[in-house]
Amino acid sequence: MIVGAGLGGLTLAILLQRAGIEYQLFEKITEIKPFGSAIALGPNILPLLTQLGLYEQFLAIAKPVNHITIHKAQGMRRMGAVDIEEHIERSGYSSYVCSRPDLYDLLISQIPKSRISFGKRVLSLVQGDNGAQIQTSDGGVYEADILVGADGGYSAVRQAMYDKMKKKGLIPAVDLEKMELNHTTMVGVTRPLDLDKYPLLRQQHKSFSRADWVIGHGPFTWSYFSLTNNRIGWGFGTQILTEELQKENDTSRSSDWGPESTQALCGQIQDYEVPIGGTMGDLIHETPRDSISRMLLEEKLFETWYYQRTVLIGDACHRISPYSGQGPVNAMEDAVILANAIYEIRAVNSENITIAFQDYYAERYPHAVDQLKFSKLFTMLMAGQTWKESLMRRFVLSHASKYFQRRNYAKTLNYRPQASFLPRVPDRGIIPVLPQKPSKRHEEKLLAARLAANNASIASTSGFVTTAATAAI
Ligand SMILES: Cc1cc2nc3c(=O)[nH]c(=O)nc-3n(C[C@H](O)[C@H](O)[C@H](O)COP(=O)(O)OP(=O)(O)OC[C@H]3O[C@@H](n4cnc5c(N)ncnc54)[C@H](O)[C@@H]3O)c2cc1C
Repeated sequence: MIVGAGLGGLTLAILLQRAGIEYQLFEKITEIKPFGSAIALGPNILPLLTQLGLYEQFLAIAKPVNHITIHKAQGMRRMGAVDIEEHIERSGYSSYVCSRPDLYDLLISQIPKSRISFGKRVLSLVQGDNGAQIQTSDGGVYEADILVGADGGYSAVRQAMYDKMKKKGLIPAVDLEKMELNHTTMVGVTRPLDLDKYPLLRQQHKSFSRADWVIGHGPFTWSYFSLTNNRIGWGFGTQILTEELQKENDTSRSSDWGPESTQALCGQIQDYEVPIGGTMGDLIHETPRDSISRMLLEEKLFETWYYQRTVLIGDACHRISPYSGQGPVNAMEDAVILANAIYEIRAVNSENITIAFQDYYAERYPHAVDQLKFSKLFTMLMAGQTWKESLMRRFVLSHASKYFQRRNYAKTLNYRPQASFLPRVPDRGIIPVLPQKPSKRHEEKLLAARLAANNASIASTSGFVTTAATAAI
């Protein structure tokens, strides 16, 4: 059972489908209609999409990004750029940006309809040596050998799992602490824009995404990426710098931000200029209102990712700020490593399941640690507004931009995991890929298939096919 049909849950479902493993997805909303925002997918996950045969379809909905230009709001002065042009040479893949709903549509199209149960909000969990059982808000009760919590930052599965562990004194105190909240954001994707109004987009709309980031006044930053079909995915960020903002956000949750508060913020920022011409108000005006969302950008790396028959992936175990664009990629990487570990389970029992979860955690946890560190640094550089953060940004952009970025590539671009039970796609680029643990089960299957093919060819050259010929080998 997978709870949550977000990017992590859908990726895991596709992989289990390809591996021939039984699964069912449970999603609380009644139909997938994700809020509009721009999602970045980098070279780390593109070999997996290639392996799944989805790369060409992904290219049709995405635009490559070469650089993000950073501007100071006053006079729209260029301060520098985040340059990612070298990704293609180093890893063989560019970094891309697409709209969140387009990516969902692509992933969900790979999963048989019968495998996703919508309108199933998971409320509670019971587990033991024989399996896991969930109860949903419509009174449904479901059981399986393994339960995967892919239900996002406010994961109900994590909550239920931790509650049980807490009673037994098995949960570290740090996992019970609140998530760190330093920023909030509002995001949206416009309808297709009239290029006569945005001639700068015309120059770029066929090839690279036009990406601009504006460092505003007070706690504000705003940014956008041009997307396919002449659309723009925009974001408006607020750093929680004052006690007043802290209080306001302490009492509200993203789901409590109703249309009025979103409308009010849209009104406040409508005159803020954007580098492609016009204002944030113009972009908001071109955005369907019900697709604009506000959210808290909390960050936290949880230490506990599994217990008994339950395991967590994605934002449920590591909530990463969207500023660094690493949340979706990491949720998908978790999915591939967990699918690989589950594939290795031959006899389904608690011992083998624990070994699979341990393998998954051992591979993914250290990456999550690095990603959180990188995300904090990137968020500070791109959205930090304290004097210290502003000073650091000026220093990095004017003196150490290339050094900072290359250091980051070297640390991250070498990690490009693939499904170990599918034919591997060749590595590309000049940065060698980190070695991946091969699948013993898949190797045995290949060997058996080769032996069977040999037997068949011996039998056919000797002119007859019998079971005796097979048994003889
Ligand atoms: C509105 C929004 C906009 C975002 N924009 C960006 C962005 O612009 N750039 C970026 O990098 N990242 C963005 N993110 C974050 C990014 O999408 C996540 O990091 C990434 O999707 C993690 O994937 P996930 O599968 O772990 O969780 P999610 O994508 O959050 O998926 C979790 C799924 O679980 C479902 N669910 C939750 N609780 C239950 C329950 N009790 N029972 C059943 N189902 C449940 C949810 O409905 C959801 O479909 C955004 C997130 C949100 C919510």
